[in-house]
Amino acid sequence: MPPLITVTHPKGIYLPEADLWLDPHFGVKRAFVSHAHSDHVARHDLSFCSEITHQIMAVRKVVKKSGVVQALPMRGVLEWEGWELRLLPAGHITGSAMLHLTRKADGATLLYTGDYKLRQGLSAERCELMQADTLIMETTFGLPKYRFPPAEDVIAQMLAFVRETMSDGGIPVLLGYSLGKAQEILCALRAAELPVMVHPSVAQITEVLAPHLGVLPKWRLFNAEEASGHVLVFPPGAKLELPKIRTAMLSGWALQSSAKYRYGVDAVFALSDHADHPELHETVERVRPRRIYLVHGSTREFAAELRSRGHDARALGAEDQLELSFSAH
Ligand SMILES: [Zn+2]
Repeated sequence: MPPLITVTHPKGIYLPEADLWLDPHFGVKRAFVSHAHSDHVARHDLSFCSEITHQIMAVRKVVKKSGVVQALPMRGVLEWEGWELRLLPAGHITGSAMLHLTRKADGATLLYTGDYKLRQGLSAERCELMQADTLIMETTFGLPKYRFPPAEDVIAQMLAFVRETMSDGGIPVLLGYSLGKAQEILCALRAAELPVMVHPSVAQITEVLAPHLGVLPKWRLFNAEEASGHVLVFPPGAKLELPKIRTAMLSGWALQSSAKYRYGVDAVFALSDHADHPELHETVERVRPRRIYLVHGSTREFAAELRSRGHDARALGAEDQLELSFSAH
């Protein structure tokens, strides 16, 4: 069995043997960017990412002027300095990718999930996993209580909210991040055949992604005077002063009992672009790693759960706390 690929966490995820950072939120020499959400993007000398992520980064102007972006097609293999790099769909948002690495000298492998979900969404390609010796996975919803209801049910509730609001003479406002959730909402509104108005930041991204989204409902840019009779799709936190609006937040955090009050909205719906707790376990079963590193969210809790099932699992960036529970190997 080849030795595992070394993973460290100086202040972000770093693979010293390849001199490659994974989704660092600060500029570095060489980085893999799994998707274009703002906490995963920075100006690097060399960035590997998917073609769609490259397009979004260019529109959002987060590419370093003197930097090089190497956009890779999904599933294609790039031979690079003794490594094989392969991007796999992550299912999180349009264009989101996992990175599968093979060290050619001995065949050791590593899979980095980035943000992901196994469920088939409406706006992202279905996630594809590959076996790897080392798995670095996100655990945003890593507690057993996070179990999402079927997306069809959530969407049906969302559409009922929209119709009810409109039949009361109100304007429904669906809140989701401009990149990812907003396109998922647009796709979910497809069947409702209602006219939609979107915030400028949603319009900017949707224009870029439209060729990958299939048929979308009729949408146009938000105009306050003509908003009545439309469904509005806005990012959370955007300013909107209109009479008779009813707001709904679309987020996995809707599962938390206080979500409605915390977001200050009229309704919440648990439409998430992350894996829930059962999907995290399914990921480990399918990837069959020898070692697992966890990032984001409930890393320590999920690591403890995996260890109780016999896995070598560590919360990345929290090594100090784990010294007691591991012998060196
Ligand atoms: Zn994300």
